[in-house]
Amino acid sequence: MPTEELKQDAARYLMQTYTRQPLAIARGRGTKVYDFEGREYLDFVGGIAVNILGHGHPDLIQAIQRQAAQLIHTSNLYYTEPQVKLAQVLVDHSFADKVFFCNSGAEANEAAIKLARRYSHDKYGAGRHEIVTMKNSFHGRTMATITATGQEKVQKGYEPLLPGFHYVAFNNVEELEQAVTDKTAAILLEPIQGEGGVHVADREYLKQVRALCTKKDVLLMFDEVQTGMGRTGTLFAYEQLGVQPDIMTLAKGLGGGMPIGACLAIDSVAQAFSPGSHASTFGGNPLACAAGLAVCRVLLEGQVLDHARRMGEHFAKGLSDCQERHRVVREVRGLGLLQGIELDMEGKVVVAECLARGILINGTGEHVLRFVPPLIITEIEIDRLLDTLAQIFSKQAA
Ligand SMILES: *Cc1c(COP(=O)(O)O)cnc(C)c1O
Repeated sequence: MPTEELKQDAARYLMQTYTRQPLAIARGRGTKVYDFEGREYLDFVGGIAVNILGHGHPDLIQAIQRQAAQLIHTSNLYYTEPQVKLAQVLVDHSFADKVFFCNSGAEANEAAIKLARRYSHDKYGAGRHEIVTMKNSFHGRTMATITATGQEKVQKGYEPLLPGFHYVAFNNVEELEQAVTDKTAAILLEPIQGEGGVHVADREYLKQVRALCTKKDVLLMFDEVQTGMGRTGTLFAYEQLGVQPDIMTLAKGLGGGMPIGACLAIDSVAQAFSPGSHASTFGGNPLACAAGLAVCRVLLEGQVLDHARRMGEHFAKGLSDCQERHRVVREVRGLGLLQGIELDMEGKVVVAECLARGILINGTGEHVLRFVPPLIITEIEIDRLLDTLAQIFSKQAA
């Protein structure tokens, strides 16, 4: 279907919840996608940090095809092998002891919020249910997760929100200490705020947060929906930041494009969920988990994590050089292949210019560009983006 026709039908039949780029994607291969007219685009968005193995990875395709032919769905009334195996891999390679599967990042955070409340309720009784989250955070679009999200723009018009949430400035331990009371059940934060503009948590800050949580038996919950699954060069970002959470949520990259989310926890916390206390019809279905297993195997058995770390360093250095040469670049932030630059100009102008030059990038907020390419991105491809950005910034300055 030609792009123009698709755009018109989308306007007619879809609820208008998205501001879309003027591009319809027909297919993808590796780090490239193609429109219906056959034009090629280098993909630095990767389905918003989802397609970590790129498009059409043979192992992922094979796992999905095989599992689809064998068994797609059963519900959680029965045991299925891919779900148990994926849980085992995640447990073997993280701080966690137990996993609950769902279908998205928002649902993973819902599970985390419910688990924290339940844990606190069972141990301390009613009333100790409050959750402290960060300003500028992003945790999803359900009612509980827009409440957890410290940004008015996602909450506006949906009031009343869920009671019991407090917001503090990111990387500010004094504010956090004041917000934690004898009613606090948990603290929820992203090790790197992605949607909020690529802000990395300080190691020293996280150490203090961990100590505060341990001292007060407040649960530390990391939302690694965006930073998990190798995005930062290690399987999970917390591994590089020197602090372990009690609960962690995953989604985006976990299925390499198949919808799947997960809430992981240490045993003493996970025990707060008993049969019937939480559930999902689709959660952890064999097809999604087979995809998750394939992703994990490629990440753990191949050289992908090493590659992502090296590419992240190359990218960060290139962006810093770009900042030195172009005054419009105010700051470079990020870790691994989650990189961002803050600009003195509108991000969407650069997004449009890159699109016209055959490169997909994403803007977040008004002035930040976010780069979350597949982890298989190459040095040559990163350099092509850097050259393109340099051209756009030079033209802007002229
Ligand atoms: C994308 C994202 C979510 C929401 O995930 P959905 O799958 O869209 O529900 C939650 N937290 C973080 C950190 C994210 O980046």
